[in-house]
Amino acid sequence: MRVLITGGAGFLGSHLSDRFIAEGHTVIAMDNLITGNAQNIAHLFGHDRFRFMKHDVTDYIHIDGALDAVLHFASPASPVDYLELPIQTLKVGALGTHKALGLAKEKNARFLLASTSEVYGDPQIHPQPESYYGHVNPIGPRGVYDEAKRFAEALTMAYHRSHGVQTRIVRIFNTYGPRMRLLDGRVVPNFIQQALRHEPITVYGDGSQTRSFQYVSDLVEGVYRLLHSDYTDPVNIGNPQERTILQFAEVINALTGNPAGVIKQDMRTQDDPQVRQPDITRAGQVLNWSPQVSLHDGLTQTIPWFREELIKRGELA
Ligand code: UDP
Repeated sequence: MRVLITGGAGFLGSHLSDRFIAEGHTVIAMDNLITGNAQNIAHLFGHDRFRFMKHDVTDYIHIDGALDAVLHFASPASPVDYLELPIQTLKVGALGTHKALGLAKEKNARFLLASTSEVYGDPQIHPQPESYYGHVNPIGPRGVYDEAKRFAEALTMAYHRSHGVQTRIVRIFNTYGPRMRLLDGRVVPNFIQQALRHEPITVYGDGSQTRSFQYVSDLVEGVYRLLHSDYTDPVNIGNPQERTILQFAEVINALTGNPAGVIKQDMRTQDDPQVRQPDITRAGQVLNWSPQVSLHDGLTQTIPWFREELIKRGELA
């Protein structure tokens, strides 16, 4: 297959690029590098089946030759990023999805949309099945991401129904692993860096809000299977093992031997979901997929990567 991955230099896009290259496919990674980082794909430069295109997916896309699949992963994806880049976030979800779908239609390629658990907003049903319509505040600070992704799902289904494009929608729950941006402000990079520096971990609010964390290799496997399936409705991909943010901080402190404990801060953004856990029944039935990596094992692979990055930057001895 010849595959275009938008956001190809990002955390998820770069791991997907690795997987498609490893499976013998040809990858064009497109990224405007506003939150992506060429370092994430530096090891693929020079590979004869890999090409990087620095391009903003909200501008007209021209690709020479055939394409078999378009995976649309471009977007600022952490609350800190999309609060700083609200208009780019709306544009990439709306205009970028339109351009990527238009390209897929033109090339007769399969289209896979990276959607998000944020389409469920601050959920009133727990855990969240794909049939839940969500509880999103359109005008709150998170609305720029949530509504862009909801629009992106609607547009994807419209291209499927009206133009017959073969489309897939993955709703991605909190994912972590090597290559997350150090300064993206999310809970995993923040907590691991604080713990490695032996600083107190900043728990926002009372830490009773929950998240369910999946390791990046599980997400990549789910996306790979979904692309190769013939299933058009959205599929949740996430690890249902749910923890409070306070428990999560304690796990990181234990794994890093951080003696500094936690510090509670009144920093929760408006509409920060109180709970989040995927119902993954559908992924099991349709893709025969379930997460394989425990939180302990995933963090054991992620913490050393952050340590190396901090050492490289001279921020840790
Ligand atoms: N959070 C925290 N301390 C931090 C960063 C985040 O307690 O230093 C909390 C945040 O308030 C939220 C949860 O961790 O409840 C997950 O936040 P994240 O930014 O990772 O993404 P989200 O899951 O909200 O999209």
